[in-house]
Amino acid sequence: MTPDEVIKLAKEKNCKMLDLRFMDFPGKWQHTSYPISELNKDSLEEGFGFDGSSIRGWQAINESDMLLRPVLDTAFVDPFFKEPTLVLVCDIADPVTGEDYTRDPRSIAKKTEAYLKSSGLADTAFLGPEAEFFVFNNVQYSSDPQHSFFRIDSPEAIWNTGKGEDGGNLGHKNRYKEGYFPVPPNDTLMDLRTEMTLTMIEAGIDVECQHHEVAGAGQCEIDVRFAPLVEMGDKLTLYKYIVKNVAAKHGLSATFLPKPVYGDNGSGMHTHLSLWKDGKPLFAGDGYSGLSQMAMHAIGGVLKHAPALLAFTNPSTNSYKRLVPGYEAPVNLAYSQRNRSASVRIPVYSKSPKSKRLEFRCPDPSCNPYLAFAALTMAAVDGIQNKIDPGDPLDVNIYDLEPEEAANIPKTPGTLEEALTALQNDHEFLLKGDVFTPDVISTWIGYKMENEVDALKLRPHPHEFMMYYDI
Ligand code: GLN
Ligand code: MG
Ligand code: MG
Ligand code: MG
Repeated sequence: MTPDEVIKLAKEKNCKMLDLRFMDFPGKWQHTSYPISELNKDSLEEGFGFDGSSIRGWQAINESDMLLRPVLDTAFVDPFFKEPTLVLVCDIADPVTGEDYTRDPRSIAKKTEAYLKSSGLADTAFLGPEAEFFVFNNVQYSSDPQHSFFRIDSPEAIWNTGKGEDGGNLGHKNRYKEGYFPVPPNDTLMDLRTEMTLTMIEAGIDVECQHHEVAGAGQCEIDVRFAPLVEMGDKLTLYKYIVKNVAAKHGLSATFLPKPVYGDNGSGMHTHLSLWKDGKPLFAGDGYSGLSQMAMHAIGGVLKHAPALLAFTNPSTNSYKRLVPGYEAPVNLAYSQRNRSASVRIPVYSKSPKSKRLEFRCPDPSCNPYLAFAALTMAAVDGIQNKIDPGDPLDVNIYDLEPEEAANIPKTPGTLEEALTALQNDHEFLLKGDVFTPDVISTWIGYKMENEVDALKLRPHPHEFMMYYDI
């Protein structure tokens, strides 16, 4: 879109406010708003100043004055505000040099696309995430630094009364891991998902399907059509925003926490990746499962760097409570066609070369999508450049292997701390083309260790009361 077109859109939709959005370092959308009179050709070109010093992960910057630079193609009218409001997603720039800020996740995603092109390997990386989420009707937790407790109620799960605290219920409950996908009245969330879906379509997201997911406790999935890397970063961010706000509108709460319910499936964000050049799919060939040699090397790169990669694709302490056997989440670093117990799956729904892709099943939706997509693509590119052999496929159910056989398969990291340590020891592949700078890597590790890994380690946990209180 041109500046004139954006201004025209705001006029047509009678917008009263302009809302500028950007992604912080850990992966939460931020916003600041202006009367629509501030929207003009000059402001769109020059950008909007703001104080970047209170944004998580960015404090270290000496110059806190920063610039929001609107990306015109991202314009949409917000579906939730009372007054019509035009939203523009922004890049972050240094007002002095005019250059993109190196810790801006969107800038890292843009540099990944630029590096891919400059490498000559491909001109486009297509990403297709399947973000799962839970919907709850009552969530209580304490963030008091001295105490910790939480309680969640789901409209659907067997362990819940279904009608609030003492209200009894009608018995239409989903057992754990049996939410996929009986009709109503078991599925109570159809209308909610449909409203989310229609809101997404209205906001410019191509939705392919929506369904209940396996977790009985109100788990859902809405699938969107694949898109180029940066565009998909923008779209997934909007997806999460719409999911949470449609739920909130109905007095419900949606969460992308990877493992909210012990004993039930967690929420993954399987991510499909394919590389294209001159309009042709590069992952289609006559090798294993119809893949090209390039695709095999890409798999080799993803599997080799997976422990470090997970520091971006599975970046919460809770992520590792999902990556355990028995819940359709991968724990083995292996690849296979069809087999959902492998970290990398080659979907075989369609024989069309255009649909040839790899599905990385580790990621979860607590990630910062820009950083996760960038890191995944860089791992694949490194595999291609260094011709990394992914070894033999694992076409058996990995969960059924003998213990000795299973022990030979490399495993996903067991904790966020392990993934961060892996990233500390393996991040050269991310530094190519200055995509991730050494500062970004060390800030990420430091931020996560201090604010999340240590913060959790030092806190008494509710379950410790369960186990030890009466000792
Ligand atoms: N929820 C599962 C996971 O954690 C995936 C379930 C599915 O989509 N088949 O990855
Ligand atoms: Mg799916
Ligand atoms: Mg799913
Ligand atoms: Mg999948």
